[in-house]
Amino acid sequence: MQVYADNAATAPISERALAEMIKYYGMEYQNPSSLHTYGQAAADALADARGRIAKCLGCDERGIIFTSGGSEADNQAIISAAHLGAKKGKKHIISTAIEHHAVLHTLEALEKQGYEVTLLPVSREGLVTADQVREAIRPDTCLVTVMFANNEIGSIQPIAEIGAVCRENKVLFHTDAVQAVGHVEVNIDEMNIDMLSLAAHKFHGPKGVGVLYAKRGIFLEPLIAGGAQEKGKRAGTENLPAIMGMAVALEDAVAHLSEYQARVSAIRDKVIAELSKIPYSFLNGSAEKRLPNNVNMCFEGIEGESLLLMLDMFGIAASSGSACTSGSLDPSHVLLAIGLPHEIAHGSLRLSFSELTTEEEADYIIEKVPGVVERLRQMSPVWEKMMKENA
Ligand SMILES: *Cc1c(COP(=O)(O)O)cnc(C)c1O
Repeated sequence: MQVYADNAATAPISERALAEMIKYYGMEYQNPSSLHTYGQAAADALADARGRIAKCLGCDERGIIFTSGGSEADNQAIISAAHLGAKKGKKHIISTAIEHHAVLHTLEALEKQGYEVTLLPVSREGLVTADQVREAIRPDTCLVTVMFANNEIGSIQPIAEIGAVCRENKVLFHTDAVQAVGHVEVNIDEMNIDMLSLAAHKFHGPKGVGVLYAKRGIFLEPLIAGGAQEKGKRAGTENLPAIMGMAVALEDAVAHLSEYQARVSAIRDKVIAELSKIPYSFLNGSAEKRLPNNVNMCFEGIEGESLLLMLDMFGIAASSGSACTSGSLDPSHVLLAIGLPHEIAHGSLRLSFSELTTEEEADYIIEKVPGVVERLRQMSPVWEKMMKENA
C-alpha cells in the first residue's frame, strides 16, 4: 500500500486546480500587462482571481499581491515592516521560537542590520499567549510576527487575540498562515491581521505561488526590481496559470472546510490514540489547539530518520520535523523549543494528512508503526540503556 502522509511538506494538486492551470497554460496564455484585447482578458482573469481569493480570506482584495509562495511572502512582509519601523526609529521585532525558517532567517538577517529581535518562548504544547506578546511590546516595537499554525507540531496560536493586542498598541501584526489556510478558518479582518502569508501548494494548489496580504496603508517594499506589476510591489510577469489554479484550490478548500475538518481530525485522533499505545511514546503539540491533519509523536529510544526509512519501505511517506530541517543533523528547533531534550528531539515522526487521506490508509499506518518502532528499539543501544536504567 502507498500512503502519502507528508502533506505539510506539500499536498498533491487537485484535479480542478490542474484543469484550470492547463487552460491558462494553453489558449489563455496572454500577459495581463498587454493592452490588446487578449491581454485585457488575462488582466480580467487576474482581477477576478484576486477578488475570489480575498473573499475566501475575509479581506480587501486591494491588499493582495501574488508571490512565488510562502517564503517570499514572509520575507517581503517582514522586511517591509522592519524598514517602515526604522523610518520612525523603531527597530524592535517580536516573534516566536518556533517560526518557519523563512521567518527566522529573515529575522536573523535583520539582526545583523541592527534590529533587535525578541523570540517568545512557547509552552510545552507549542503555544504562545496574547499576554506574552503584550508584555514584550516596547515603545520601539515595529512588528509582531507569529505563525498561525506550526508546520511541525500543528499547534494553532491565538491569532485574533494577538492581533487585538497589536492593534491596541499600534504595532503591525504579520502571521505566516501557510499551514492554516485551507485547514482552519482564517478571516483576516475579523482576526485583526495586518499582514498574512500563504502558499497554494499546502492546500492542493500549485507549487511556486502564494499570496502576501497587507492592509491598506502598509507600504510593501518590492524584493524584485523591474516592471510595475502588482502595483509596483512585485515585478515580473504574473504567473497567471498558477494564480488561477490557486484561486480554485482555495475556493474548494474553503467551501468544504468543516466537512474536511470533521473527517480528517477523526482520522488524526484515531492515529494518535492508537500510536499512543506504544510504550514510551507521546504526542508533541496541543491535543485541542491542533491542525486537523497533523500528528507529531516521539518514540523514545529510536532515531526519527531510521523510522522514516523503514516506514518508507512499507510505502508510508512521512517526515520527521519539517522537510526543511530533515537532511540536516540538527534536531528540530521546534521540538527543542517545546522543551524536549536533544536525544528525544531526534526521534519524532510527523504524519500530515489531507482530504485525500482514507481510513484504510490510517489503519495501515496504525498497523505498521508499532512493529517498526519495536524492531528499531531492539537494535538501539539507547533503548537498551533506557531499559536497564528503568529495570
Ligand atoms: C511551507 C511553509 C513555508 C514556505 O512556503 P513555500 O511556498 O515553500 O515557500 C513557510 N511557512 C510555513 C509555516 C510553511 O509550512
